Amino acid sequence: MTAVLLKGCAAVVTSAYDPVLWDHDILCQDGAITAIGPDLARAAPAGAEIINGAGLFVYPGLVNTHHHFFQCFVRNRAALDWTRYSVIEWLDRIYPIFARLTEDCFYHSAVVAMAELIKHGCTTAFDHQYCFPKHAGSRIIDRQFEAADLMGMRFHAGRGGNTLPKSEGSTIPDEMRETTDAFIADCARVIDAYHDPAPLAMRQVAVAPCQPVNCYRETFVESVALAHDKGVILHSHVGEGESPVIEQVHGMRTVDYCESLGFAGPDTFYAHCWELSREELQKMAAAGTGVAHCSEPVYLVGAEITDIPAMDALGLRVGLGCDGAASNDNSNLMHCVHSAYMLQCLASASRQDPVPPPAAFLAYATEGGASLLGRTDIGALRPGMAADLFAIDTRKLDYVGTRHDPISLIAKVGIGAPVDLTMINGRVVWQNGAFPHLDEGALFAAAEKTLHTILPQTGGL
Ligand SMILES: [Zn+2]
Repeated sequence: MTAVLLKGCAAVVTSAYDPVLWDHDILCQDGAITAIGPDLARAAPAGAEIINGAGLFVYPGLVNTHHHFFQCFVRNRAALDWTRYSVIEWLDRIYPIFARLTEDCFYHSAVVAMAELIKHGCTTAFDHQYCFPKHAGSRIIDRQFEAADLMGMRFHAGRGGNTLPKSEGSTIPDEMRETTDAFIADCARVIDAYHDPAPLAMRQVAVAPCQPVNCYRETFVESVALAHDKGVILHSHVGEGESPVIEQVHGMRTVDYCESLGFAGPDTFYAHCWELSREELQKMAAAGTGVAHCSEPVYLVGAEITDIPAMDALGLRVGLGCDGAASNDNSNLMHCVHSAYMLQCLASASRQDPVPPPAAFLAYATEGGASLLGRTDIGALRPGMAADLFAIDTRKLDYVGTRHDPISLIAKVGIGAPVDLTMINGRVVWQNGAFPHLDEGALFAAAEKTLHTILPQTGGL
């Protein structure tokens, strides 16, 4: 692998809480950062690619901790907007469309989602793939890894699944249901085939049953056993309105239910958690369980605003996620950093709390996400860590008046346009408005063609 020297970067943000390094170089080799310093030209090996860092503010790559790539194929459908319906009515409308998805749809929607993530500075993506229509076959996760290889993205596959039939209270159509045995067997298969525990791994797998209301108890119990046996992360949706249902069925709210099954701890993180009490958050903090906060669904659903500063103060591990396009029509984690910050500013007034520091939101989207995924080699820029970074050229009118504080810039001002450079594992995958190794036009055409095999080109459904 070739070496890359980012030379004379205007500012290097190594992490949200470290001092900014002004006018520094970054040297990368074999997928890792080997040095950060004021003048590294002499340390660079012969033949190293040189990138002119003039005007560039460089940051650790963003880490997306919750998404549903397949939902990219149902974006911008105002007629389906779940704010118009009860959740059950909405599910009845959206799931028949999800049930049509083919194996190719999963591949191309992954390409679409990862492309947008990369354009906006995300270098590691976790996807919670829980949609397995029977006709789509058994290679959906494999096709997602294929898409990640194509895009050059560091990819964590959350192998989701649903086991409870509708007749027993599930909200998932039976054509997407699996047995616990089939779910666990395929989790084991994809872990064995793809999960790489080594430093700088480009592929990892998590066991991620969709949500407790759509699975049998045994599915969660066996997920815990498998994840512990294989040494992988656990993930699910928790605290998004289902606790009363779980209490009715299992006699306790979701956090207690998950903890009683062992589905909690430093190797576990939940998505959402907006309905949780302070006592539940304290239990999660004591166990070490983390939270993937998805700010944009909160706007759309009008749900209670998750108290992120309170979670932080309790010591909970917090990361950020886009969530799927059914509850956020974009895959732009950079946008989510800004929206999460603005949402907490809004809430701080009614809580009579101080406005939270913008730096915290960059930290959630980088080191916080890395922690949720169990990674110590991503989320910050330091020698020995992965060469995963993004850069913005601040020599634009957009940034006049903002350049004195690169750390706050991301959350407080927000980065509206695509970034100018994204590097993953030491390889430039996005630069100056193009994917240097890919034909975006051809990928667009292939994705559109596949989309129209299941949905018409007009707005009708
Ligand atoms: Zn979700």
